[in-house]
Amino acid sequence: MRLLTYERDGEARLGVLAGDAVIDLADASDGELPDTMLALIAEGSEALERVGSVSGDGPSRDETARERISVPLDSVRLLAPIPRPARNLVCVGLNYADHAAESAVTDGLPKDPVYFTKPPTTVIGPEAPIPWHPHVSRRIDWEVELVVVIGRAGVNIDEEQALEHVFGYTVGNDVTARDLQRRHQQWYKGKGLDGFCPLGPWIVTSDELADPQDVRLSLSVNGEMKQDAWTGDMLFGVARLISTLSQGMTLEPGDLLMTGTPSGVGFARNPPEYLQPGDVVEAKIDAIGLLRNAVAEE
Ligand code: MG
Repeated sequence: MRLLTYERDGEARLGVLAGDAVIDLADASDGELPDTMLALIAEGSEALERVGSVSGDGPSRDETARERISVPLDSVRLLAPIPRPARNLVCVGLNYADHAAESAVTDGLPKDPVYFTKPPTTVIGPEAPIPWHPHVSRRIDWEVELVVVIGRAGVNIDEEQALEHVFGYTVGNDVTARDLQRRHQQWYKGKGLDGFCPLGPWIVTSDELADPQDVRLSLSVNGEMKQDAWTGDMLFGVARLISTLSQGMTLEPGDLLMTGTPSGVGFARNPPEYLQPGDVVEAKIDAIGLLRNAVAEE
């Protein structure tokens, strides 16, 4: 299933994609299904089954009823699938060997995952502008990433069971102000500015993406390919990232884990490239969808 959050009459609504249409889950279930993604995730697998039954082609719903609850995808404004995460997004640095190499990491590849976080205020949805503040940074860079949405809470999760805790996956862009990242040493500031985490266009549930290490991800700027890689090249796969993070630390439903970016980022290019106002960034994961954002001066 492809679950999304969209705007209707100024409100965030929860929907499921059915072909080229968005089915409003609260309306389709007469208010029985939750109206936010976080609430749906928290309700667990039973709620997901009900989503399947209201969005399916079952005989219970006639054509008139279906028209009432569904709108064409191209007529709605999508928001980030989780517009406001409950807590910081956990990110992973240097999780592809070729990106570690282009970043001139000199003391060898990480032996354990490098975790850092982005605050919830970084999250924006598809087509929302990535803010460009000339007084803050002129070294703004892109990073396409596979993003894991945690479904089931857990602590001390075994690697073998880790994928059972995944609700689904989406596409993310770990936008980074490289000058701030370096100046403040810890990466939080340079990766934590408002609007620095485009997410979307929707969540593909884990049953439809069985192997997160067999996914192609790419990113283009103004139509020119900058990153093109395979998640099989991660140094630490999704199961290992979840297991290691969860040791002594509870993961909660709705937590987001960004799994790192491959090579091809701007600062490592020769000459270095940074985003400018008007640039259009398209982050894509074949099995999920396309996340497009333009850069806009604030
Ligand atoms: Mg990153």
